[in-house]
Amino acid sequence: MDLRAIMFLLLLQLVALCYARPGWDQAVDNENLGGSDEESITETILRMNNGSSEYLLEGDLVIPRARTAMKCMNKKYSCLWPKSSNGNVEVPYIIVDKYTNEEKGRIVQALREIQARTCIRFPPRTTQKSYISFEPKFGCPSQMGRMGYKQVVSLQRFGCVQKGIIQHEVLHSLGFYHEHTRSDRDQHILIDWDNIQKYQRYNFKKQDTNNLNTPYDYSSLMHYGRTAFGINRAVTITPIPDSSVEIGQRRDISDLDIIRINRLYKCFNYEM
Ligand SMILES: [Zn+2]
Repeated sequence: MDLRAIMFLLLLQLVALCYARPGWDQAVDNENLGGSDEESITETILRMNNGSSEYLLEGDLVIPRARTAMKCMNKKYSCLWPKSSNGNVEVPYIIVDKYTNEEKGRIVQALREIQARTCIRFPPRTTQKSYISFEPKFGCPSQMGRMGYKQVVSLQRFGCVQKGIIQHEVLHSLGFYHEHTRSDRDQHILIDWDNIQKYQRYNFKKQDTNNLNTPYDYSSLMHYGRTAFGINRAVTITPIPDSSVEIGQRRDISDLDIIRINRLYKCFNYEM
């Protein structure tokens, strides 16, 4: 074999190696995908997103290149979905074909529940420029607010396609941060900084949030669990003054989550 042929074979091998690394579109170790009944929404999201090649804020927020997620709520209405003349707010979506019909049904059902109690409407996308694309990429990250173009809500199969997580990620794309980073959180929770990995501490930075005159909500679908980013699952978030209050639920969108959507989007005919 001449030198050029050998070089060519080496190059081929290198390319194959590059594609073999786990990442987007490749399922990670199946053993880690099952989850358990005890797992909180936080743990599921963080577990599914662990190893993502994207820079993720607070574990599941993709930082867009065009602007930072931090500024989103500050720029007046720039990251909100626009209101139609009929008072509803349309958030067009598509679900890519990589899901089974059953999984697609779960996504549609999760959207319907938000739609039933708010003025947000989720029509299947036709030609709209801004829309959500549900895709089984790596983990379950989302972007903050409306981006103005196709924005991917990743729902990796066998882990992220469950109601609580679907709604959690959709709430991010409607413009909501995590409850534990609310501007007034220090009156409601204690953060144990010593139990958080140093390089994960930025995930607990307070955001300059618009709290929409709603009380702090321990039962929010956007609240992380006690051991989020904890070293060896150590407690990082403790409710005060009553430390026994449940946080990190993943079952349902809370009443206050609904009220916040209605206030942010001025859904006057709904619960505000
Ligand atoms: Zn999140």
